[in-house]
This record gives sequence, C-alpha cells and structure tokens, in this order.
Amino acid sequence: MRITGIRMFQVDLPLHEGSYKWSGGNSVSVFDATVVAVDTDEGLTGWGEVCPLGPAYLPAYARGARAGIAELAPQLLGADPLALGVLNERMDSAMRGHPYVKSAIDMACWDLLGKASGLSVATLMGGHAGDDVALYRAISQDTPEAMAARIAQYRSEGYTKFQLKVGGDADTDIQRIRAAAAELLPGDVLVADANTGWTQHVAVRVTDAVRDVNVYIEQPCLTYEQCLAVRRHTNRPFVLDEVVDGIDLVVRGVADQAMDVINLKISKVGGLTKARQIRDLCVSLGIAMTIEDTWGGDIITAAIAHLAHSTPERFRFSATDFNSYVTVAFAEGAPQRTHGRLAASREPGLGVRPIMDVLGAPLQVWGS
Ligand code: MG
Repeated sequence: MRITGIRMFQVDLPLHEGSYKWSGGNSVSVFDATVVAVDTDEGLTGWGEVCPLGPAYLPAYARGARAGIAELAPQLLGADPLALGVLNERMDSAMRGHPYVKSAIDMACWDLLGKASGLSVATLMGGHAGDDVALYRAISQDTPEAMAARIAQYRSEGYTKFQLKVGGDADTDIQRIRAAAAELLPGDVLVADANTGWTQHVAVRVTDAVRDVNVYIEQPCLTYEQCLAVRRHTNRPFVLDEVVDGIDLVVRGVADQAMDVINLKISKVGGLTKARQIRDLCVSLGIAMTIEDTWGGDIITAAIAHLAHSTPERFRFSATDFNSYVTVAFAEGAPQRTHGRLAASREPGLGVRPIMDVLGAPLQVWGS
C-alpha cells in the first residue's frame, strides 16, 4: 500500500460550558482541531486529528500543527502507511522534534492498518481489555464552591473520577481541594491538577495543607526537578503530566520514583505509535496511566478509546471523552460516553466515518 494523497481539514470545536479555564489565567472557548485524511492506492483512507489546548499549554499550537503537516506531507507521498515504524522514522528524519505535528498522520496510518487488516486499532494494540474504560471529568477552574458543586453534577453523568483545575493562589487552591473532597463518595477519585501553575514553595505549602485529604497531586510545577522536589515532600499519590513528553522522561521518572501515575497524551509524544510504546513500558514497570490527548473531537476520542481499552485494566487510571465536552460532532461511529465510561469500536481501524459536510472543503491537499 502506498500513500497517494494527504488532505488537511480544520474544524472549530466550541465548548458546551462556554470556556475551559486552568492555571495561569489560561482559558479556551473554541478548540481549533486539524483533521488529516491519508489516501492510498488501494482505495482506503485513514483519518487522524490533532488539537492543541491553545498555544499556552504545551509547545504546540493549532496553526503550528498545520504548518508542520504542510512541511511533512509532501515527503510522505509514496510511503507505505502500514509500515508504521518505517513511517515514523521517515517523519523523524524529515522533521526534528515537533511531535504533535506527526500525531494526526500517525493516527491516520493506524486507522489504515486496521482497515487493511479488518481489525480494530484496540485489537492491534493488544485487545479490548474488559467491557469499557472509566473516564475522568476535568473541572474548569472556578470558585471553591462552584467547583465543588460540579462533582454532584458530573457524578449524575456517570463520572466517578474528578480532576480539579488548581494551580492558582495557595489559599484558594487549598479551599478548592477541601471543598471538592467534601463532596466525594466512596469509590470516587479526586485529582488536584496544578498544570505547572505553582512555584515550588507554593506547591509544598498546598500539598502540606491537604495531607489528610484523599486527593492525588498532578504536575504541581513547571519543571521535572521542581515536581520531584514536591513529590519527595508530599505523602499524597503523585501524577506527572506536562513534563512527560517522551519515553526518556518515563525511564528517568521510574528510576527516580518521581510519580505513581502518568498522563499519556497521544499528540504530546508524537502519535499512537509512540504512545503505545510508552504505554507498554508503563505496564511492564507498574505505572498506571490516564490515557488522553491535549484536546480533540471525535477522531481523537476514538484514538484515546482504542489505546485505553487495549491497556490492562489495573494500569488504567482513567481516560477522557473530549467529544462530549464540545458541541460539534464530525464523525459517525465515534465512541460516546455511557455512564461515565467509553468503549473502543470493534469496527476495523478507528471505526470513525467523518461527516464531510461538517469538515467542509480541505484547507490543503497534497498528491492526488
Ligand atoms: Mg494534567
């Protein structure tokens, strides 16, 4: 099989709740997703998506994804999309770094591998483990009372895992954590995600003040070293997210006992091929994972479902159903949340069929 063409689309994804706020005064109201179609000489088309969380979250932004795809796409015409290792080596040789640029193309090629073999991506990645995957719900930064009130609302939608967006003023964050924890029921999981927003002394102060609270601490500070210092200080279970940008960091983190859980974001590490490699390493080393991406719509939610569903259940801390946060659906067959859980499609590939009326005309086309 050969790649004969690549088409790139753009779709706006507004949020049901109007906006999403996290540390540092950051917020996004409309997500800017890029969708890629990889066409082949055998008539099959694979689909991928990338959607950065605005330009201020990671070294990634929506127009950067499109500029990078425009740089790479002409160099991939003629390549075998099913030879995923070879294809990734080709992308890494053609463009140093910028892993998120490569993610949608890699995802589309996994979709093709599934379609060509008649197997779901989850089957190709190890098989559907259990019936479905428990999801977490992010709670946008707000007053302690408003955030605590969201717990009951989201629990009524079936969620039992809640991720509070903190990373602000220490006293307010302590109140946010305590107010939310007071709403928990047995079996619920609460994570306080600072999204790098605390300086080290603030993180030590907050984590000290919640030593008696049933809460996980996620990515308190900007750097790995600062997070490690906080980790060594606190008695709370600890999650690393933003700094986990590749397999090297996971190896280092395991050696340092720097975390109990990682957040594995597909585009942050360069696509499903590399995310699966990290997933398998974490399973072997006993590290649980939240499997997700920076954001996205129907295709990314499908990719998350396949990677998460094929992960052994005891290493699945949680996953995300981003397509339920946004008002626009652009693919049929995408997984839909049921009682706070998500299942990967059993159809070949990712199991999604893009709705071309929603995607509109491609922004750019390479090849035929
Ligand atoms: Mg996080």
